[in-house]
Amino acid sequence: MASPLPSEPLFFRRTLKETVWGGRNLATWLGESPNFPGPLGESWELSDVEGQETVIAEGPFQGKTLCQVLEDHADAILGSAKPHAGGQRFPLLVKFLEAQQDLSVQVHPASDSPSYPGQGKSECWYFLEARPGAKIICGLKSGTDKKTFSADAATSAVESHLQAHAVNTGAFLMVEAGQVHAVRPGVILCEIQQTSDTTFRLYDWNRLGLDGEPRETHLSQALEVVDFEKPAPRLIQPQLQPLEGSLVWETAQLNQNEAFHVRLLKGTGEASFGPFEKPRVLTVVNGTGEVYFGDKVSRALKNGETFLVPASCSGYVLSSADSISLLESIPQ
Ligand SMILES: [Zn+2]
Repeated sequence: MASPLPSEPLFFRRTLKETVWGGRNLATWLGESPNFPGPLGESWELSDVEGQETVIAEGPFQGKTLCQVLEDHADAILGSAKPHAGGQRFPLLVKFLEAQQDLSVQVHPASDSPSYPGQGKSECWYFLEARPGAKIICGLKSGTDKKTFSADAATSAVESHLQAHAVNTGAFLMVEAGQVHAVRPGVILCEIQQTSDTTFRLYDWNRLGLDGEPRETHLSQALEVVDFEKPAPRLIQPQLQPLEGSLVWETAQLNQNEAFHVRLLKGTGEASFGPFEKPRVLTVVNGTGEVYFGDKVSRALKNGETFLVPASCSGYVLSSADSISLLESIPQ
């Protein structure tokens, strides 16, 4: 029997990941009890990264990976959006992340990098919680040249060349490919990024991994892909504006680059969306509500849930009795 067209929102089973630098607050925020003893660092909500594909949790495609559904229904899911440059994969990856220690100082290649075709990765961070005084690193201090940076890149002196940003709950930061970055302690964030697992570590704070060994670094590859021309980004405080066609919902555009667009949606009551030519990935970052689709089928939305609205969806309504905030990510 031919499988039905994916025209309704797809919900996924999240994958919880134990990491040395994680914590205990993300599990509480998600309402999850990890089945491992160590800290929870990442929860992968939607992934089509090879070998780490998330599985569809319910509905006609339950038990299949996103990759398997895309194989049969690429047009219905992607519409006019392009698959990831590395092949026929879904182009976006959505994670939550908690840091109670420093994450490695790292960089990802650009989409047009000749040495790493199909492995480009720009990412962005929406801060769900930031404890007072929390800072993260993104970009080089202005005037940093390749020679000086390279000499210090694998040591604690690298920090003196990197731009620190004080962050707060509700702020947003774009981390372009080629920009050196590090998440630092005291934050829970939602990370939306291009589908690629190519990360080059420069410096890991002289720390040992869960196996008691220092983690591998990739200095020469990292220095090859650092963009020394790009200025450090500015932290964005979302400025909500009325959502077109709605009296009770608001929106703030957070980024628009060639790979993906992200905006914040916030509302009480109902708002209608679509149909659209490109898929939408929606992530509840605060509150609860419902999504209605098709013949007014409703699905409750919990805090922290992510779902994918295929391009072939005829439209949907988001609704909340109290208030709900979502990140809407649109692959290009
Ligand atoms: Zn990164």
